Amino acid sequence: MAMADQWFSASQVAEGVHLVRERFYHSGNQANIWVVQGTEQDVVVDTGLGIQNLRGFLEDQELIGNKPTLAVATHVHFDHSGGLYQFPEVAIHKNEVEALEKGDNFETVTFLSDSEIVPPPTRKWKASNYRVRASKVTRTLEEGDVIDLGDRRLQVLHVPGHSRGSIVLHDQVNRQLFSGDTAYMGSLIDWLPYSCVSDYVQSCRRLQALAPDIHTVFPGHFETFSGQRLESMLTDYINSAGVLHRATAGVMGALSSIVLRGRNTNNIPAKCCFYGCCCHCCL
Ligand SMILES: [Zn+2]
Ligand SMILES: [Zn+2]
Repeated sequence: MAMADQWFSASQVAEGVHLVRERFYHSGNQANIWVVQGTEQDVVVDTGLGIQNLRGFLEDQELIGNKPTLAVATHVHFDHSGGLYQFPEVAIHKNEVEALEKGDNFETVTFLSDSEIVPPPTRKWKASNYRVRASKVTRTLEEGDVIDLGDRRLQVLHVPGHSRGSIVLHDQVNRQLFSGDTAYMGSLIDWLPYSCVSDYVQSCRRLQALAPDIHTVFPGHFETFSGQRLESMLTDYINSAGVLHRATAGVMGALSSIVLRGRNTNNIPAKCCFYGCCCHCCL
């Protein structure tokens, strides 16, 4: 049986920045959880699945707890938003507030299998019963907002494309970027419900302008990387996003919508188009 103190691992990766991971979630969807410590406030960037007690673990490790903590989701997908319900202060971009507060498991793209959670948290635990719990949002984020930690400030940039409420957090002074699923060292995903290739390309262009000023990127998945790597990654994506890519993303979006609707039947949105794509390009 995996207890919370075994479920999570934690390591310091920079001054005041810690990486937490869910050790028994064996999947490319295993998200990075970042703890950013400030003098006035700590911020937890993304919260994992929410299967175990993340907040308790972080308090036990004394990574948070002696000052206010704000849990921020880079976007609403289940691998990032699942643990938000454990925190009294929760922030997410305005486009995804409703999905989070309703516990909309279609928009959170909840998709988990038993083989990914080994060992399971309890003997009776079943992946098919897993859902992202609804969370009350205490702070709605918009483009240009600043999250003030005291000795450190995180600027919010709205970068739709992967999802409609995706954000990145930019620490200008420390030249750090928390990039969520918008940029990581792996295949970028632009074919989920509420993904949009055109928006993704625009967001990449914005981040390209920022990249020369970035020293370290703390992504939503996999390892950290440099601003230089970010720049080439964004260029690669923009160059790949031609007509064929958009058509493929459309087909994959339709298929993923069908699968996700099947799994999360309580949460079928009324506004998706015939092809199952919910992005504004089609509506
Ligand atoms: Zn995502
Ligand atoms: Zn993710």
